[in-house]
Amino acid sequence: MTSFPFTEALPIQFQAPLPKASEVVVIGGGVIGVTTALFLGRRNISVTLLEKGRIAGEQSSRNWGWIRQQGRDADELPVVIEAQRLWRQLAEECGEDIGLRQAGVTYLARTDKEMAGFAKFLKIAEIHGVDTRLLDQGETARLIPAMSRSFKGAMTTPSDMRAEPWVAVSALARLAAREGVTIIENCAARMLDISAGRVSGVWTEQGRIATSSAVVASGAWTSLFLRAHGVSIPQLSVRATVAATGPMPEIHSGAVADEHIAFRRRQDGGYTLASGGTSQLYVGPDAFRHATKFVPALMANPFGTSYLPAAPRGYPDSWSTPRRWNADEESPFERIRILNPAPKASALRDIEREFAALFTQFKTVPIKASWAGMIDAMPDVVPVVDRAAEIPGLVIATGMSGHGFGIGPGMGRVVSDLVQGNEIGHDLHRFRQSRFSDGSPIKLGPSL
Ligand SMILES: Cc1cc2nc3c(=O)[nH]c(=O)nc-3n(C[C@H](O)[C@H](O)[C@H](O)COP(=O)(O)OP(=O)(O)OC[C@H]3O[C@@H](n4cnc5c(N)ncnc54)[C@H](O)[C@@H]3O)c2cc1C
Repeated sequence: MTSFPFTEALPIQFQAPLPKASEVVVIGGGVIGVTTALFLGRRNISVTLLEKGRIAGEQSSRNWGWIRQQGRDADELPVVIEAQRLWRQLAEECGEDIGLRQAGVTYLARTDKEMAGFAKFLKIAEIHGVDTRLLDQGETARLIPAMSRSFKGAMTTPSDMRAEPWVAVSALARLAAREGVTIIENCAARMLDISAGRVSGVWTEQGRIATSSAVVASGAWTSLFLRAHGVSIPQLSVRATVAATGPMPEIHSGAVADEHIAFRRRQDGGYTLASGGTSQLYVGPDAFRHATKFVPALMANPFGTSYLPAAPRGYPDSWSTPRRWNADEESPFERIRILNPAPKASALRDIEREFAALFTQFKTVPIKASWAGMIDAMPDVVPVVDRAAEIPGLVIATGMSGHGFGIGPGMGRVVSDLVQGNEIGHDLHRFRQSRFSDGSPIKLGPSL
């Protein structure tokens, strides 16, 4: 593992001069922004990618590294199937080892109810030709023989993959830069320049770029950025804690989760660990504003989220974070270059205890690093990928809701075609911005 998590101490890798004009400006250097810029660049479109901190400094390096089709929302599945193909292709093109391995994803079940839930996804997988299958108790034990307890069964998708996020997204950015994308780290987009009702430029902390097209792929900061322009999306962010062990004997080469523990083998022989589905929401003005929209998600998993009264200073939904600013003054985006929340201590203890209980042969669990990330969550657990209705020239690509790493290159390709007005090849209706304001009921997608 490289020094982790990424902080401002990480040297700046990309510092192209700010161009005066660019056909497209992409705001946010996570996996979505990087791959969007890459695919736009491949169409000979001039693209500038702005990152306020470091490429992949936030969610895109802090995630578990699962690239999964398994358990996806039915409308995301075609995009993630494309993403799987693109990951293979891009891994070759990067010319660096990003740790991409096809080692499968498995969900373990303790109850018949969980098995019945898995069976629902199996039908969706079959329609799309994904190799997901259900395992009985014996097959589950044979798949991961080192487990000290038996499970009712499992759902597994052998074609699912893993990669090392902190390596992969930076490598994709280097590929994009080699192919001509202008990437500027440590350069926040402060606001859009809007003339005659449409995008005419982007104001950055280094000055203005003229453009007719902007993509906001700003992860947990997106709703703050958009709201300053009168565009409202019900996006909140929740903290999730992760731990990493040092090298250990191999117990399984893929990624596995039950409701208590999730683990994934890393390229360096360690395991990335997390607890199944617990997160913390820092309550702020947006949490109140959008509370009713999140009720279905809360009812589906009432104990999955706990609440803290206030976010740390400067966070997107902190009580004191300014909601308006001018183009010539410091914006909230440059005050926190990298969201680096402290991991939750009790979550770390739970992770260690659960992993040790499942693999009793290990005397100790050699935790060598821990971190947390702020997941940008939508009420229905699927993203917004759409042209903004209010501002021509603006495209929104956000709210990946805890599963945007795997689908990243697929969404990047989709967004690049959305910007160009091309045929997308997938139905994006589910991801439309208007679903939260046109009276549509919240249709909850799967959370893991
Ligand atoms: C703990 C954890 C585990 C996860 N596990 C998985 C997993 O196993 N598999 C999976 O598929 N997904 C997983 N995810 C989700 C996945 O990491 C995210 O969905 C994905 O990385 C989102 O990518 P993004 O590009 O939309 O956002 P981000 O990676 O958050 O990138 C947004 C970027 O925009 C920048 N930015 C914001 N505002 C501005 C501005 N005004 N100007 C310039 N730059 C700006 C930020 O600095 C940031 O770098 C996990 C997430 C977390 C936190």
